[in-house]
Amino acid sequence: MTDPQATTVAALLDRHAGMLLDVYGVLFDARGPLPGAAELLAMLERRGTPYRIVTNDASRSQATYAARFARHAITLAPERFCTSGSLLPGYFAAHGLVGARTLVLGTEDSIAFVREGGGEPIALANDLPQIDAIAVCDDSGFDFLRGIEQALGAIVRSVEAGHVPALILPNPDLVYPKGGGELGFTAGSIALLLEAALARRFPGAELRFTHLGKPEPHLFRAAAAQLDLPIDQLVMIGDTLETDIAGARAAGCAAALLAGVSSWHHARETATIIPDYLLASL
Ligand SMILES: [Mg+2]
Repeated sequence: MTDPQATTVAALLDRHAGMLLDVYGVLFDARGPLPGAAELLAMLERRGTPYRIVTNDASRSQATYAARFARHAITLAPERFCTSGSLLPGYFAAHGLVGARTLVLGTEDSIAFVREGGGEPIALANDLPQIDAIAVCDDSGFDFLRGIEQALGAIVRSVEAGHVPALILPNPDLVYPKGGGELGFTAGSIALLLEAALARRFPGAELRFTHLGKPEPHLFRAAAAQLDLPIDQLVMIGDTLETDIAGARAAGCAAALLAGVSSWHHARETATIIPDYLLASL
Protein backbone atom coordinates (compact mmCIF):
# COMPACT_ATOMS: atom_id res chain seq x y z
CA MET A 1 0.00 0.00 0.00
CA THR A 2 1.16 3.51 -0.83
CA ASP A 3 1.04 5.66 2.25
CA PRO A 4 -0.71 9.03 2.01
CA GLN A 5 1.52 12.05 1.67
CA ALA A 6 2.90 13.39 4.93
CA THR A 7 2.32 17.12 5.02
CA THR A 8 1.89 20.22 7.18
CA VAL A 9 -0.99 22.61 7.77
CA ALA A 10 0.98 25.37 6.01
CA ALA A 11 1.30 23.21 2.88
CA LEU A 12 -2.43 22.37 2.99
CA LEU A 13 -3.27 26.09 3.14
CA ASP A 14 -1.08 26.70 0.06
CA ARG A 15 -2.85 23.96 -1.88
CA HIS A 16 -6.53 24.35 -0.86
CA ALA A 17 -8.83 27.37 -0.89
CA GLY A 18 -10.64 26.48 2.32
CA MET A 19 -10.38 24.27 5.37
CA LEU A 20 -12.78 22.13 7.42
CA LEU A 21 -11.81 21.15 10.96
CA ASP A 22 -13.14 18.42 13.23
CA VAL A 23 -13.54 19.33 16.92
CA TYR A 24 -12.89 16.29 19.15
CA GLY A 25 -9.38 14.96 18.66
CA VAL A 26 -8.35 17.88 16.43
CA LEU A 27 -9.21 21.18 18.16
CA PHE A 28 -10.48 20.00 21.57
CA ASP A 29 -10.73 17.05 23.88
CA ALA A 30 -12.91 16.83 26.99
CA ARG A 31 -10.45 18.99 28.94
CA GLY A 32 -10.02 21.83 26.49
CA PRO A 33 -8.03 22.95 23.44
CA LEU A 34 -5.46 20.55 22.00
CA PRO A 35 -1.91 21.62 21.16
CA GLY A 36 -1.75 24.00 18.21
CA ALA A 37 -5.52 24.52 17.99
CA ALA A 38 -5.65 28.10 19.25
CA GLU A 39 -2.67 29.08 17.08
CA LEU A 40 -4.19 27.50 13.96
CA LEU A 41 -7.55 29.21 14.44
CA ALA A 42 -5.84 32.55 15.08
CA MET A 43 -3.85 32.12 11.85
CA LEU A 44 -6.97 31.26 9.82
CA GLU A 45 -8.74 34.34 11.17
CA ARG A 46 -5.70 36.55 10.48
CA ARG A 47 -5.25 35.28 6.91
CA GLY A 48 -8.97 35.42 6.15
CA THR A 49 -8.94 31.77 5.11
CA PRO A 50 -12.44 30.42 4.48
CA TYR A 51 -13.04 27.71 7.08
CA ARG A 52 -15.68 25.90 9.07
CA ILE A 53 -15.54 23.72 12.17
CA VAL A 54 -17.60 20.62 11.39
CA THR A 55 -18.80 18.35 14.18
CA ASN A 56 -21.33 15.57 14.67
CA ASP A 57 -22.31 17.15 18.00
CA ALA A 58 -26.07 17.82 18.05
CA SER A 59 -26.25 18.92 21.69
CA ARG A 60 -24.97 22.49 21.36
CA SER A 61 -26.12 25.46 19.30
CA GLN A 62 -23.53 27.43 17.35
CA ALA A 63 -23.76 30.18 19.99
CA THR A 64 -23.15 27.65 22.77
CA TYR A 65 -20.11 26.37 20.87
CA ALA A 66 -18.72 29.87 20.41
CA ALA A 67 -19.17 30.53 24.14
CA ARG A 68 -17.39 27.28 24.99
CA PHE A 69 -14.39 28.21 22.84
CA ALA A 70 -14.45 31.73 24.28
CA ARG A 71 -14.03 30.29 27.79
CA HIS A 72 -10.64 29.04 26.54
CA ALA A 73 -9.76 32.48 25.10
CA ILE A 74 -10.59 31.45 21.51
CA THR A 75 -13.00 34.03 20.11
CA LEU A 76 -14.90 32.85 17.03
CA ALA A 77 -18.16 33.87 15.37
CA PRO A 78 -21.00 31.36 15.95
CA GLU A 79 -21.34 30.80 12.18
CA ARG A 80 -17.86 29.22 12.15
CA PHE A 81 -19.49 26.12 13.64
CA CYS A 82 -21.29 23.70 11.34
CA THR A 83 -22.84 21.06 13.61
CA SER A 84 -25.01 18.06 12.79
CA GLY A 85 -27.74 19.69 14.89
CA SER A 86 -27.64 22.75 12.65
CA LEU A 87 -28.72 20.48 9.75
CA LEU A 88 -32.05 19.78 11.48
CA PRO A 89 -33.94 22.95 10.44
CA GLY A 90 -33.13 22.37 6.76
CA TYR A 91 -33.99 18.69 7.05
CA PHE A 92 -37.40 19.45 8.56
CA ALA A 93 -38.17 21.99 5.85
CA ALA A 94 -37.05 19.69 3.02
CA HIS A 95 -38.97 16.64 4.26
CA GLY A 96 -42.41 18.07 4.97
CA LEU A 97 -41.91 18.00 8.72
CA VAL A 98 -43.13 21.51 9.51
CA GLY A 99 -45.68 21.01 12.28
CA ALA A 100 -44.42 17.47 12.96
CA ARG A 101 -44.95 16.37 16.56
CA THR A 102 -41.37 15.47 17.37
CA LEU A 103 -39.79 13.65 20.27
CA VAL A 104 -36.28 14.98 20.87
CA LEU A 105 -33.69 12.99 22.78
CA GLY A 106 -31.11 15.63 23.61
CA THR A 107 -30.51 19.00 25.21
CA GLU A 108 -32.40 22.29 25.19
CA ASP A 109 -30.20 23.32 22.23
CA SER A 110 -31.22 20.12 20.39
CA ILE A 111 -34.89 20.95 20.99
CA ALA A 112 -34.30 24.51 19.73
CA PHE A 113 -32.93 23.14 16.41
CA VAL A 114 -36.14 21.12 15.91
CA ARG A 115 -38.29 24.13 16.77
CA GLU A 116 -36.28 26.29 14.34
CA GLY A 117 -37.13 23.78 11.59
CA GLY A 118 -40.83 24.12 12.33
CA GLY A 119 -41.12 20.87 14.28
CA GLU A 120 -43.29 20.80 17.40
CA PRO A 121 -41.16 19.29 20.15
CA ILE A 122 -43.10 17.13 22.60
CA ALA A 123 -41.82 16.27 26.05
CA LEU A 124 -40.82 12.72 26.95
CA ALA A 125 -43.47 11.01 29.05
CA ASN A 126 -45.09 7.63 29.60
CA ASP A 127 -47.96 6.62 27.30
CA LEU A 128 -47.20 9.29 24.71
CA PRO A 129 -49.73 9.47 21.89
CA GLN A 130 -48.82 9.07 18.23
CA ILE A 131 -45.76 11.03 17.09
CA ASP A 132 -44.71 12.21 13.62
CA ALA A 133 -40.93 12.20 14.13
CA ILE A 134 -38.16 11.45 16.58
CA ALA A 135 -34.75 13.16 16.55
CA VAL A 136 -32.05 11.31 18.49
CA CYS A 137 -29.52 14.08 19.09
CA ASP A 138 -27.54 13.26 22.22
CA ASP A 139 -27.19 11.10 25.32
CA SER A 140 -27.59 14.06 27.68
CA GLY A 141 -30.53 16.29 28.57
CA PHE A 142 -32.88 13.48 29.64
CA ASP A 143 -33.11 10.47 31.94
CA PHE A 144 -31.15 8.03 29.76
CA LEU A 145 -32.86 4.63 30.16
CA ARG A 146 -36.33 5.95 30.98
CA GLY A 147 -36.18 8.36 28.06
CA ILE A 148 -35.16 5.67 25.58
CA GLU A 149 -37.96 3.39 26.80
CA GLN A 150 -40.52 6.18 26.54
CA ALA A 151 -39.30 6.92 23.01
CA LEU A 152 -39.52 3.24 22.04
CA GLY A 153 -43.07 3.06 23.37
CA ALA A 154 -44.11 6.13 21.38
CA ILE A 155 -42.57 4.79 18.14
CA VAL A 156 -44.20 1.37 18.61
CA ARG A 157 -47.65 2.86 19.26
CA SER A 158 -47.31 5.09 16.19
CA VAL A 159 -46.27 2.20 13.92
CA GLU A 160 -49.08 0.02 15.31
CA ALA A 161 -51.49 2.82 14.38
CA GLY A 162 -50.15 2.71 10.82
CA HIS A 163 -48.22 5.96 11.18
CA VAL A 164 -44.48 5.35 10.86
CA PRO A 165 -42.66 8.38 12.34
CA ALA A 166 -39.63 9.96 10.67
CA LEU A 167 -36.56 8.54 12.44
CA ILE A 168 -33.79 11.14 12.40
CA LEU A 169 -30.24 10.76 13.74
CA PRO A 170 -28.16 13.95 13.49
CA ASN A 171 -25.18 12.48 15.37
CA PRO A 172 -24.40 8.92 14.23
CA ASP A 173 -21.35 8.61 16.54
CA LEU A 174 -21.53 5.53 18.79
CA VAL A 175 -19.18 6.62 21.56
CA TYR A 176 -17.28 9.72 22.59
CA PRO A 177 -14.18 10.25 24.73
CA LYS A 178 -15.13 11.36 28.24
CA GLY A 179 -11.53 12.08 29.20
CA GLY A 180 -9.14 10.01 31.29
CA GLY A 181 -9.47 7.10 28.85
CA GLU A 182 -13.20 6.60 29.57
CA LEU A 183 -15.79 6.29 26.78
CA GLY A 184 -19.44 7.32 26.80
CA PHE A 185 -22.29 6.03 24.64
CA THR A 186 -23.91 8.70 22.51
CA ALA A 187 -26.73 9.19 19.98
CA GLY A 188 -25.69 6.57 17.39
CA SER A 189 -25.73 3.85 20.03
CA ILE A 190 -29.21 4.92 21.19
CA ALA A 191 -30.46 4.65 17.60
CA LEU A 192 -28.99 1.15 17.34
CA LEU A 193 -30.82 0.10 20.50
CA LEU A 194 -34.11 1.45 19.14
CA GLU A 195 -33.56 -0.13 15.71
CA ALA A 196 -32.81 -3.53 17.25
CA ALA A 197 -35.94 -3.39 19.41
CA LEU A 198 -38.07 -2.24 16.47
CA ALA A 199 -36.69 -5.03 14.25
CA ARG A 200 -37.79 -7.56 16.87
CA ARG A 201 -41.23 -5.97 17.23
CA PHE A 202 -41.84 -5.36 13.51
CA PRO A 203 -39.85 -8.00 11.58
CA GLY A 204 -39.18 -7.00 7.99
CA ALA A 205 -40.36 -3.42 8.46
CA GLU A 206 -36.78 -2.11 8.08
CA LEU A 207 -37.30 0.80 10.46
CA ARG A 208 -34.02 2.68 10.25
CA PHE A 209 -32.79 6.11 11.26
CA THR A 210 -31.73 8.64 8.63
CA HIS A 211 -28.18 9.77 9.46
CA LEU A 212 -27.29 13.46 9.01
CA GLY A 213 -23.74 13.82 10.41
CA LYS A 214 -20.37 12.52 9.21
CA PRO A 215 -19.67 10.23 7.30
CA GLU A 216 -22.79 11.32 5.38
CA PRO A 217 -22.01 14.15 2.92
CA HIS A 218 -24.53 16.69 4.29
CA LEU A 219 -22.23 18.54 6.73
CA PHE A 220 -19.47 18.86 4.13
CA ARG A 221 -21.93 20.19 1.55
CA ALA A 222 -23.46 22.62 4.04
CA ALA A 223 -20.01 23.95 4.95
CA ALA A 224 -19.02 24.36 1.28
CA ALA A 225 -22.27 26.20 0.56
CA GLN A 226 -21.71 28.52 3.53
CA LEU A 227 -18.17 29.26 2.34
CA ASP A 228 -19.40 29.66 -1.24
CA LEU A 229 -16.60 27.41 -2.50
CA PRO A 230 -16.69 24.27 -4.66
CA ILE A 231 -16.31 21.29 -2.34
CA ASP A 232 -13.23 20.03 -4.23
CA GLN A 233 -11.33 23.16 -3.18
CA LEU A 234 -11.65 22.27 0.50
CA VAL A 235 -9.52 20.08 2.73
CA MET A 236 -10.91 18.37 5.84
CA ILE A 237 -8.67 17.76 8.86
CA GLY A 238 -9.97 14.96 11.09
CA ASP A 239 -8.75 12.27 13.45
CA THR A 240 -11.19 9.46 12.53
CA LEU A 241 -11.03 7.48 9.29
CA GLU A 242 -14.62 6.18 9.39
CA THR A 243 -16.28 9.59 9.83
CA ASP A 244 -14.02 12.53 8.92
CA ILE A 245 -11.96 10.93 6.18
CA ALA A 246 -14.62 8.63 4.67
CA GLY A 247 -17.17 11.45 4.69
CA ALA A 248 -14.85 14.02 3.17
CA ARG A 249 -13.74 11.68 0.39
CA ALA A 250 -17.33 10.66 -0.39
CA ALA A 251 -18.43 14.31 -0.49
CA GLY A 252 -15.58 15.16 -2.86
CA CYS A 253 -13.15 17.11 -0.73
CA ALA A 254 -9.56 16.29 0.19
CA ALA A 255 -8.92 14.72 3.59
CA ALA A 256 -6.00 14.92 6.00
CA LEU A 257 -5.75 12.45 8.88
CA LEU A 258 -4.31 13.95 12.06
CA ALA A 259 -2.61 11.39 14.26
CA GLY A 260 -5.28 10.41 16.77
CA VAL A 261 -8.19 7.98 17.01
CA SER A 262 -7.33 6.36 13.68
CA SER A 263 -3.56 6.39 13.83
CA TRP A 264 -2.41 5.48 10.32
CA HIS A 265 0.44 3.41 11.70
CA HIS A 266 -2.13 0.99 13.15
CA ALA A 267 -4.76 1.29 10.43
CA ARG A 268 -2.66 1.05 7.27
CA GLU A 269 -2.57 -2.74 6.90
CA THR A 270 -6.35 -3.15 6.76
CA ALA A 271 -7.59 0.32 5.91
CA THR A 272 -10.15 0.65 3.12
CA ILE A 273 -10.49 4.41 3.71
CA ILE A 274 -7.37 6.19 2.54
CA PRO A 275 -6.73 9.83 3.44
CA ASP A 276 -5.01 12.14 0.94
CA TYR A 277 -2.61 13.41 3.57
CA LEU A 278 -1.16 12.56 6.96
CA LEU A 279 -0.56 15.26 9.57
CA ALA A 280 1.65 14.58 12.57
CA SER A 281 0.39 17.74 14.33
CA LEU A 282 -1.59 20.92 13.68
MG1 LIG B 1 -12.78 13.61 16.06
